[in-house]
Amino acid sequence: MMKYDPCEYCDGQVKKQNVRVDHWWKSKLVVIENVPVGVCSRCGERYYEADILRRLDRIAQGEVASVRQMKISVADYRRIMAA
Ligand SMILES: [Zn+2]
Repeated sequence: MMKYDPCEYCDGQVKKQNVRVDHWWKSKLVVIENVPVGVCSRCGERYYEADILRRLDRIAQGEVASVRQMKISVADYRRIMAA
């Protein structure tokens, strides 16, 4: 099992957890569940291993079939404030 260095922001302990990642690749967003990521137990900062990031990119590029689709809402903050 990979051992993480202490968090570079708060010196907290970083532990591997399976988390949901909202991953952008160019203009495409894909939500990937159960990704093993180092998460700081104090501030929540996430640490991604390089090979996992590459896999997330491949998933976002559509090389791996999605398990389901989900609907998301997109808002424009400036437009809301101008109204
Ligand atoms: Zn931290």
